[in-house]
Amino acid sequence: MDKNRFYNKTVETLTRDDLNALIDERVSYTISYAAKYSPFYRDWFQTHHIDPQDIRTHEDLLTLPIISGKTVRENQPPQTPEFRFLSAPLGDIFTIHETSGTSGVPKSFFLAYEEWLRYAEKYARIFISQGFNKGDRVVVCTTYGMNVGANTMTLAAHRIGFTMIPTGNCNFPVRTLTNYRPTAIIGSVFKLLHLARRLGNEGINIQDLGLERLVVGGEGFAQEAREYVRELWGCGIYNTYGSTEGSMCGECHQLSGLHVPEDLVHLDIYDPAMAEFVKEGECGRAVLTTLLPVGAKCGTLLINYDTEDTTAVISREQCPCGRTHMRIINPQREAETVWVNGAPFNRIDIERGVFQHENMQYLTGEYEAFLYTGQDDQETIMRVGLESEDPDHCDTRGVTERFLDSFLKGRPALRSAYADESFRVLFRFTTQGGLELHTLKGRPKRLVDRR
Ligand SMILES: [Zn+2]
Repeated sequence: MDKNRFYNKTVETLTRDDLNALIDERVSYTISYAAKYSPFYRDWFQTHHIDPQDIRTHEDLLTLPIISGKTVRENQPPQTPEFRFLSAPLGDIFTIHETSGTSGVPKSFFLAYEEWLRYAEKYARIFISQGFNKGDRVVVCTTYGMNVGANTMTLAAHRIGFTMIPTGNCNFPVRTLTNYRPTAIIGSVFKLLHLARRLGNEGINIQDLGLERLVVGGEGFAQEAREYVRELWGCGIYNTYGSTEGSMCGECHQLSGLHVPEDLVHLDIYDPAMAEFVKEGECGRAVLTTLLPVGAKCGTLLINYDTEDTTAVISREQCPCGRTHMRIINPQREAETVWVNGAPFNRIDIERGVFQHENMQYLTGEYEAFLYTGQDDQETIMRVGLESEDPDHCDTRGVTERFLDSFLKGRPALRSAYADESFRVLFRFTTQGGLELHTLKGRPKRLVDRR
């Protein structure tokens, strides 16, 4: 693979000073666009007596409100007569989307065609940075439909000149792989895990299929889970992070964090009080602002949008791949973080425990965890359900020890709560399909707080 390819080299390799200047120019234009075309922001500037022209740099964004999915839902029918975040005439809108997020109540999202092109550019940059080229054939397991990701990835493929096989899920027949010989598959870690198992059951040796790379995204995952999927498939695996709001970030072939397309999306990381930016390198809440090129249009303009994900900046220095756009760690869902005895942990921490290397000779990787209050209010019980292909011959003791070693590592508060039994962890091993999450509809919830 030629490692020095870029989709838009000029922009992707701007010096930090030039990049910051471009960001500030676009912040300025984006704010003036908001004041002109977005009913929500127009009213907000008036009510708070703020002159949009005073917002000139990305630091000035601190003076504007932080909005969330909730704010968007509160400013659309039936709550308000109009869509108050709609920021272009309806006649200029190319597609309308609904995203439900964690609350289940959909929020409406409008996109102009030029935004499709900008989304496609973001994906094209990511794909090129991962080594994709003309001649690649790519199976897309990501859902099409209301999800703008799969569609705009397809547009990116057209730009780069590779072939898409838009299955939209991972239930495709084996011939998709044997007849068309794809070079890559795009899906989530668990979709790729299921697919590998299904193909194995059908007698296919997946390492012989000629796949060169996998692209994962759509949900956070533990590094250990990714490592396992990589070993299983025997090819490179790259991470992407994206949402309908346009936050497409991706790992390049250096695998040293996800590059943020800083000229098109501005990312700030806030402290838990959502009042200040965290210190560089510290973990906090990812808050994004769409950056419009001067003269551009936008269907739903979001400024200071709380993604409800947490992340940290790895570096704003040039990456060994040559790109200067900042790199962040893999974001985690804040909604998947729980607190026990004053200590937080995330679903990803459970996943890490499950996917300990030696565990995977016994487990399928499927897991779930539930938190309950114990006999008195001071006691918390976590029940971890693990799937095994053959529970009768599973080294349950080894699995649980490795799980606990990994899970309690670096968590002194949890470790001492575990030692004095105010925090108990109980394990249940089931056969395939035996977990509760298989009986529930929708995206599996793997960490559920039932206290
Ligand atoms: Zn890079």
